[in-house]
Amino acid sequence: MYRTHTCGELRIAQTGKTVTLAGWVQTVRKFGSITFVDLRDRYGITQLLFGEELNKELDAQPLGREFVVQVKGEVAERTSKNPQLDTGDIEIKVASYTILNKSATPPFTIQDDTDGGDDLRMKYRYLDLRRQAVKKNIELRYAVNRAARNYLHENQFMDIETPFLIKTTPEGARDFVVPSRMNAGQFYALPQSPQTFKQLLMVSGYDRYYQIVKCFRDEDLRADRQPEFTQIDCEMSFVEQEDILGMFEGMIRHIFKTVKNIDYTEAIERMSWEDAMWQYGNDKPDIRFGMKILNLKSAFKLGGKLLATGDLINGAGFGVFDNAETVLAIAVPGCSEYTRKQTDELTEWVKRPQIGMQGLVYIKYNADGTLKSSVDKFYAEDKLKAIADAAGAGKGDLILILAGREERTRKAISELRLEMGRRLGLRKADEYKLLWVLDFPLFEYAEEENRWVARHHPFTSPKPSDIETMINNNPVIENAEKYLEHPYNHIKANAYDMVLNGNEIGGGSIRIYQRELQEKMFAALGLSPEEAQHKFGFLLGAFEYGAPPHGGLAFGFDRLCAILGGSESIRDFIAFPKNNSGRDVMLDAPSAIDDKQLTELSIQLALELRRDSL
Ligand code: ASP
Repeated sequence: MYRTHTCGELRIAQTGKTVTLAGWVQTVRKFGSITFVDLRDRYGITQLLFGEELNKELDAQPLGREFVVQVKGEVAERTSKNPQLDTGDIEIKVASYTILNKSATPPFTIQDDTDGGDDLRMKYRYLDLRRQAVKKNIELRYAVNRAARNYLHENQFMDIETPFLIKTTPEGARDFVVPSRMNAGQFYALPQSPQTFKQLLMVSGYDRYYQIVKCFRDEDLRADRQPEFTQIDCEMSFVEQEDILGMFEGMIRHIFKTVKNIDYTEAIERMSWEDAMWQYGNDKPDIRFGMKILNLKSAFKLGGKLLATGDLINGAGFGVFDNAETVLAIAVPGCSEYTRKQTDELTEWVKRPQIGMQGLVYIKYNADGTLKSSVDKFYAEDKLKAIADAAGAGKGDLILILAGREERTRKAISELRLEMGRRLGLRKADEYKLLWVLDFPLFEYAEEENRWVARHHPFTSPKPSDIETMINNNPVIENAEKYLEHPYNHIKANAYDMVLNGNEIGGGSIRIYQRELQEKMFAALGLSPEEAQHKFGFLLGAFEYGAPPHGGLAFGFDRLCAILGGSESIRDFIAFPKNNSGRDVMLDAPSAIDDKQLTELSIQLALELRRDSL
């Protein structure tokens, strides 16, 4: 037997017991004729005491960092206890030891505050995974996995695997493809999600399906994305939107309780997509704090609608506002005393390329009730007061205003709001606020192609009251300039996103389940009947054989784990992640393959690629 106990297990009650432990050497500390060694495994650290007799042996056969050793000895009470360690009251008086394997000196220290940089840690990820901080993340991931599975199992969901070698899927990203040796010149696609399979399973009568499953999307890896990531993917039959929301509110509450011991009993807020965009500037608002956006200019285009707040700023001769498509403001609480240096710094912040604004206007609503702004030349105090009031500002607040092109300004104010929330400590990692965003538009206008694309995916059903609008109107956009006037802009989907602290953690929809409506949908997206048949004939066919009403959703498992672990980065919660260029630096993948393999696959590389890989 290699071990009788783990390195995290022994306590004072076991004093006097003879035990065998096995693990990795964390540290070796020699004091004259005795040596202390910290032995580590997945469960913890136990101190070993090598007395005088063994020290000679240690001199001949020294232990180094990360050596794998087995020790036999007696549990003894420690004279100087270590309250930081669970095993800190005891140590093992070693009677004998065996080096099971030596270790080269690790390229970085296996500690919470390691001296290894990102690249080095990823190259030696198997060593990085030994660190307590990383292990905690992997454990949390498993806890979330288990909680989700248990909840779904209790609710009659069945875990059913679906294939990875498939045909293109419709989630809107680029596919990863795999060449087929047996079918020369033909390719499989890796699933962007199991979407069509889970719908087929509903047709087959497996009315509650789930899978914790890898999805593959060949996207440019901006902002903490991975080319392969994991979803908790679910589908149910005979349900309406309300049933789905209820079921998965239950799941998320269960996860909070089991993983974080948090009773998330409060009602989960709901917000329409339009309100989210209008009040927070994006479709996944962080509602842990207010600071809602105020529109200062008369009209604002959103999902084909013109929304208006009344005009507070036009006509004062301030060209920046007068000529802007939109002017948006937030009131930042308690910041009226910002110095010139601070407002200058904020101006620089909004001018960064990622934000892309030309400048920032501010109004200080001073504690004494006076108002001061960077546009005093154009706006008298009473006008400033009117703006401040409309923005919901009070004495002591700082109003920040951005003006420019509509979409860019909306995104910028949304980022600025989040940044100010962060600076004011209103976005605490240990405070959780869930939200459903509902009533998404069914379509989105793709400017470059002058056509409609599905906002979620093409299997999402329109709201029943909007089906007529979809069927009775021609999808063709005659005049691109006037696309906003097209009735398709007003069609809402039976789609929903779950948002946690400003992150979309899940999303789904009630599906179309009749062939005719699905065909209409494909036509609306510009697919000819032949293309629709070629790409999705299997699903259209299945809909002819008694498809039940159904719907579902998928949670972004990596992201959910990262948020519950209080981290911004999903990579920290993936055992073997890829870097920002989609590379596995440990495996050095992707990599070239040899000519024999290429020939077998009937693939010829472009000449310049061949040279690169030689
Ligand atoms: N398949 C969708 C996605 O990956 C989720 C769903 O509609 O269930 O986003």
